[in-house]
Amino acid sequence: MIVKKVFGTLFGLGIMVFAVMAFLSNEPASKTDFGRIITLVVFVFGLSVMVGNLSAKKPVPLTPPTSPIPVVPLGPQCPSCGKAVSSEFSVCPYCATTLKPKCPHCGKEVAHDYKNCPYCGSQL
Ligand SMILES: [Zn+2]
Ligand SMILES: [Zn+2]
Repeated sequence: MIVKKVFGTLFGLGIMVFAVMAFLSNEPASKTDFGRIITLVVFVFGLSVMVGNLSAKKPVPLTPPTSPIPVVPLGPQCPSCGKAVSSEFSVCPYCATTLKPKCPHCGKEVAHDYKNCPYCGSQL
């Protein structure tokens, strides 16, 4: 890529030099308006080639495909193994963790992170 870029730059520079040489030469063709327009066009062409190669954009690194968002299972998860469980399960089918602990005092279902039973107020 670099070689191609340098070659293109030198190519454009060569065209510019060629146009200048043709313009400055004493050949009859360069003395006419048409000849000057041709050399000007050639010069601009060479300039654009050179500038285009000098300012050639660096190859844009391919952005890695965005990793798919991990599917977060909706609904309740086992607090121990993290697998999705049904809200109707009372025991995790994967790790046998009790999903619906019951208050030892009143026997009602309480959540895992409850510190106190919301029904009877006893400490869990
Ligand atoms: Zn589990
Ligand atoms: Zn209770």
